[in-house]
Amino acid sequence: MRAYLLPCLLLLPLTAFAADDHDHHAHDHAHSHEHAHEHEHEHEHEHGALGAHEHGAAELDVALENNELTLALDSPAVNFLGFEHAPGTPEEQGKAADVRMMLERPLEWLGLAEAAGCEVIEQSIQGQAIGLGHPGYGERSAQPAAEQDGHSDLEASYRLKCQAPDALDGLDLRALFAKYSGLERLQVQFVGPDGQAGAELTPSQPRLSF
Ligand SMILES: [Zn+2]
Repeated sequence: MRAYLLPCLLLLPLTAFAADDHDHHAHDHAHSHEHAHEHEHEHEHEHGALGAHEHGAAELDVALENNELTLALDSPAVNFLGFEHAPGTPEEQGKAADVRMMLERPLEWLGLAEAAGCEVIEQSIQGQAIGLGHPGYGERSAQPAAEQDGHSDLEASYRLKCQAPDALDGLDLRALFAKYSGLERLQVQFVGPDGQAGAELTPSQPRLSF
């Protein structure tokens, strides 16, 4: 219990800020404020634009404030793994380890300008399909039993400190799309000192400029 409660709590501030920047989330945002203290485990209900767990689609919320870059990735596990249950066979465990390693090394796939000098100072990674036992869709009782079975998400949040944030000019996720063909589109929302930007990134358009 304790082992995964902590990462859940770490995600809450990111989730709250991420909802600030799109109007159609106004309701969700209010909800998360009212109930965050009672329902820490349900934060994924409030997270992000899709919420609906659509295979092939994922979302990434990004914010830059002073020299800190925060990111929150939320994706159906199948996009990266090809399955969504806890890994069983040696092959599944190998894939899970690979994806876990990818999520643990965001600087290798975010495509940030090297001149910005960013390093990860905090991260939280969850997903039962990569052996980090967070409850998946199966425990979301609002859905009919037939629809809950076997679905789960991967969630990762990061806090980066950048020595030269002015050098940050965008994200380039081509390496991620190239490696994981199950990822078809990624909805990115960015909030920074000059305002906000949003884009749906795809294998043929993997870049968002800040
Ligand atoms: Zn699914």
